[in-house]
Amino acid sequence: MTLKSGDTLDRVLRERLRIEPARLRVEIRDELAEFVELRSIRPGHQAEAVFDKKGRLMRLIWHKDLLNEWWITVCWKGQRCDEHLADKQKEADEKAEWSLFTQKLEVQERLVRRELRLRISSRTPSVSAGVQQAGEGAELALRVAHTFQKYHPVGKLFPEDRLDVWFEQIQVAGRVAGYGRILFARFATRRSGVFTLLHGVLLGPRGPEQMYRADGTRRRKRRFFGPPTRPYRVNSRFGWRYHPVLRKRRMHRGIDVSLPCGRPVFAVAAGQVITRGWRGGAGRMVSVRHAQGWVTRYFHLSRYRVRRGQRVRLGQRIGDIGASGLATGCHLHFEMMRGGRHVDPQRFLHFRPDDSIPCAKMPSLWGFQIQACSSLGLPLRDCGLLLPQRCYRPMRRRFWQIAAKACRTRHRRCPHKPPIRPGPWPAMPRGE
Ligand SMILES: [Zn+2]
Repeated sequence: MTLKSGDTLDRVLRERLRIEPARLRVEIRDELAEFVELRSIRPGHQAEAVFDKKGRLMRLIWHKDLLNEWWITVCWKGQRCDEHLADKQKEADEKAEWSLFTQKLEVQERLVRRELRLRISSRTPSVSAGVQQAGEGAELALRVAHTFQKYHPVGKLFPEDRLDVWFEQIQVAGRVAGYGRILFARFATRRSGVFTLLHGVLLGPRGPEQMYRADGTRRRKRRFFGPPTRPYRVNSRFGWRYHPVLRKRRMHRGIDVSLPCGRPVFAVAAGQVITRGWRGGAGRMVSVRHAQGWVTRYFHLSRYRVRRGQRVRLGQRIGDIGASGLATGCHLHFEMMRGGRHVDPQRFLHFRPDDSIPCAKMPSLWGFQIQACSSLGLPLRDCGLLLPQRCYRPMRRRFWQIAAKACRTRHRRCPHKPPIRPGPWPAMPRGE
């Protein structure tokens, strides 16, 4: 049977499938709840009950979609049901009236690479309309919209905007069961006669995995702070510890960085100085309020470099390392608070890492872009190949070798003599 709107799990088990006794229904419900989120149960799910000759439930099959089907097998007291069970490790409880065993149906998934070319027009005004017209599911529309949302508000599309997406389709027995990764995405929009080109490319050691921009950099998710000192080495962590001066266990609500007195202390983010002054054990203390409810505090300073109320930039010197207050030596005690609560700075103090692709690996990114682009049937100049400034010297020759080879073998429409210069190549011609 297929679930209709208004069906709840209880009603399905009791009225539609007529599973008895009530206690078995409760156990099945609990068992199912471990695999299927009960709130996600909705019309379209399928449930099937198989009974034995005595009218006892043998198996409940819950079919969510092609990829997700669970079998709950009931093993009644005194019954041998090893043959039903894929997992031989589990044994029926001999004292209980019945035992339940759940297994997920193994399906043969096949990943198929597909392309999607959307041209925004009055007939195709949105991403979801375009995805639907291409015969793909709403899930893909969401994923595509989400991919571009990072770069450009997809709600703002204009006629002649173009989206090209190379993605993975999950197939089970020849039917579309869902979507895998988005491998390559390209968005071209025309604004006052100028095209903005944005690319997302996924790349990893075992094939495409991570999303990269065409220049080999990655989008960072975390909020970015700078280090409070240079060098930044944590000598004492956040958490319970034995206090060296007070000689008892005390919560350490920050981290300590040991450095010679007089070394600069920097603001970890832009903000405003809210306190500056002597605070007992903290000695000379500065606290800075930042956006989004963040407050940082810097203790034991030997000298202040800011006034109260002053606005500071990220990395601005706010004081000098000292040993004022309760301190055994020159060090900075640094605290971070969010919404008035202390948090472990080591969990939140992420510095801008250089996680862009090393220049030597850029060729694999270009190779992937060419491959994706060729699958999409795009001319080479639309593949987003880019020789970033940082890689210009070491990779220039390699870049042109790859581009020239791609020109010869894969793409008919490409310029004969590409201009040798760093930056986007070739420039998108106006009015194309
Ligand atoms: Zn400390």
